[in-house]
Amino acid sequence: MDVSHLLDELNEAQREAVTARDGHVLVLAGAGSGKTRVLVHRLAWLIQVDHVSPLGILAVTFTNKAAGEMRERTGQLLQVSTRPLWIGTFHGIAHRLLRMHWKEAGLPEQFQILDSEDQQRLLRRIIRDEGMDEAHWPARQAQWFINARKDEGERPQHIEHLDHPVTSTWVHIYRLYQDYCNRGGLVDFAELLLRAHELWLEQPDLLDHYRKRLRHLLVDEFQDTNSIQYAWIRMLAGSTGRVFVVGDDDQSIYGWRGAKVENVQLFGRDFPDVMTVRLEQNYRSTGNILDAANALIAHNQSRMGKNLWTAGESGKLIQLYTAFNEQDEARFVVDQLQQWLDSGRRADDGAILYRTTAQSRLFEEYLLRENIPYRVYGGQRFFERTEVKDALAYLRLLLNPNDDAALERVINKPARAIGEKTVSFIRLQARESGLTLWQAANECLSQGKFATRAGTAVAAFIRLIEDMRERMKDWTLGNQMQGAIDDSNLAAHYEKEPRERMETRFENLRELVNAADAFILPQEDAEAGLDELQSFLSHAALEAGETQGESWDDCVQLMTLHSAKGLEFPLVYMVGMEDGLFPHQRSVEDAAGRLEEERRLCYVGMTRAREQLVLSYAEIRRMHGSENFCRPSRFIDEIPAEYLEEIRPRTSSRQPWVSARPSPVRGGANTEWPFRLGQVVAHPKFGEGTVMSFEGSGEHTRVHVNFPAIGAKWLVLAYANLQAR
Ligand code: ATP
Ligand code: MG
Repeated sequence: MDVSHLLDELNEAQREAVTARDGHVLVLAGAGSGKTRVLVHRLAWLIQVDHVSPLGILAVTFTNKAAGEMRERTGQLLQVSTRPLWIGTFHGIAHRLLRMHWKEAGLPEQFQILDSEDQQRLLRRIIRDEGMDEAHWPARQAQWFINARKDEGERPQHIEHLDHPVTSTWVHIYRLYQDYCNRGGLVDFAELLLRAHELWLEQPDLLDHYRKRLRHLLVDEFQDTNSIQYAWIRMLAGSTGRVFVVGDDDQSIYGWRGAKVENVQLFGRDFPDVMTVRLEQNYRSTGNILDAANALIAHNQSRMGKNLWTAGESGKLIQLYTAFNEQDEARFVVDQLQQWLDSGRRADDGAILYRTTAQSRLFEEYLLRENIPYRVYGGQRFFERTEVKDALAYLRLLLNPNDDAALERVINKPARAIGEKTVSFIRLQARESGLTLWQAANECLSQGKFATRAGTAVAAFIRLIEDMRERMKDWTLGNQMQGAIDDSNLAAHYEKEPRERMETRFENLRELVNAADAFILPQEDAEAGLDELQSFLSHAALEAGETQGESWDDCVQLMTLHSAKGLEFPLVYMVGMEDGLFPHQRSVEDAAGRLEEERRLCYVGMTRAREQLVLSYAEIRRMHGSENFCRPSRFIDEIPAEYLEEIRPRTSSRQPWVSARPSPVRGGANTEWPFRLGQVVAHPKFGEGTVMSFEGSGEHTRVHVNFPAIGAKWLVLAYANLQAR
């Protein structure tokens, strides 16, 4: 069989990794050296040459977007369906396992995922109920404590140092919190991983089954795995599985969230016969960019050390712009981007990377003004918006009324005379008798424990949920969503708000119904036994936001340095290069290696650039309401001057620019629409139809399609999964 297409575009070292015959493989190499490419080719090699069944392979990456790309690239190489392959994030895979084996994992069938905001809310409530002072015991800190413990695989009973009053208090909260979650069938993100690990520990037969089936485990971005993820992979591999990991210690940027770069070293120790492959040739960046990045990262003490070179040309120097203030910085970047577009280049060639999400706003304003289409990754995500979560909470209650987080969210939304006093009373009863809020409310009702008015109101709420559940059980998902919004009368809650905000909320609710309408149960969820509603709710919690930025979007990309990991762009701006902002103030003050982590983040940012890298900082920046004089980032000083070219500000730009109101239309006219008006498109559920019009832009783009089978429908483009015909 001719397999040259799997090896042709690889160098010697890359081929060695892809074709490894036995044992485990560790590819340890710098940015842009082709690690992800090697991993994809390895997948294809296993199937095509080693004849491994696609069912026997598990590949883990860092984001759902990366997983999608990996699946697509493997499919292109193989020209066969990649459906049976298990490709996903650790969280996604853990979730799937728990759905398939909920009983063995000790979960109710209808367990729900608790997102980070709901987790914090629940903790705040517990802390208050305990009569503790929130100023001293903030919910956010409890959340950090609990998640960090879970990431280490620890339940409350495993935690030591209970003689320490602070630790013992947090352990107490951890215990109460976990009891709540267990009663309500709620699983937070860290719990997904921990339960999946416990599944291996406590169900040897199941583990054995998966060990026999999944013989090949592949992990990208291995430097950012945490203890529990590493332990999970190790258990699954056992003594028969073969593990193939790729990573770069210089790009470990999630230490603050529990990632352990030491796992790279542990791997060599814990697994026998590891073949280590080092890749030294960089294929991404020009010489100047690469050398500058190498010089910067050389300032870190704790490194495994490596040498990266490129056969490409030196390219342009790195540009450094000293802005008068943050407005001037944004203006400069957007002007330059405009020139890039004028010279015939694409908008999605450009990326603006920043340290903190708040920095995006000003760039958005200037991009809007110039009518340059853009997309922000990781802003407030659709499924995290208040009204969307409110509406989803009703659906969650239909599935599982014991979902305390959902119940608490909407029991009095819209106002139905169930005041804080009544809710506290229910909570107290729940706590005392170890029940969920739903159970406690029912019990109080049957025992006549409520005052008359409160009792009537609570009974009405319970009836509402039960009626909805009964009536809607055979409805389509779209109708259930619409039904939940109508029956709950959620609209009444927002009508009190300022007009503009209210309209946005209504619009988002319509989008939510559209998204539900067009939702197709993914094959793997069907296989895991999920119905549409369960699948949709899990999708909302797990994959929120990542549907943004489809490949047809020709938009400038705005994102944090953290979310740029693994990506590449011809033109990269790293903005806000000021001490205190980047490196971040916290890391400067904290001695424990945090500064080195920031430097790695800087290295990640720089190595995203293929042709041109631009750094900028402002001399004065308005932050938290006051103007501060800023010092350029120490990272700029660490880049040898020979790679830098200073761009002088234009004199006129020294005038602070007066902010204009953004125009209501986001992005340039048709650039975001993948279809023509009148074009025939196919929808997986509704069949073929004709595009009649578009509305909105970015992730809000909606398309009006006339389907002969069912009539005209508005669909959210990002979810509709339309194919051109
Ligand atoms: P990162 O550390 O940023 O995740 P990486 O090591 O995963 O980077 P890739 O993204 O796989 O690197 O590759 C970087 C770029 O180099 C990609 O555009 C890839 O297609 C290209 N590339 C990798 N190997 C080769 C090769 N042998 N020949 C030509 N191009 C290559
Ligand atoms: Mg990569």
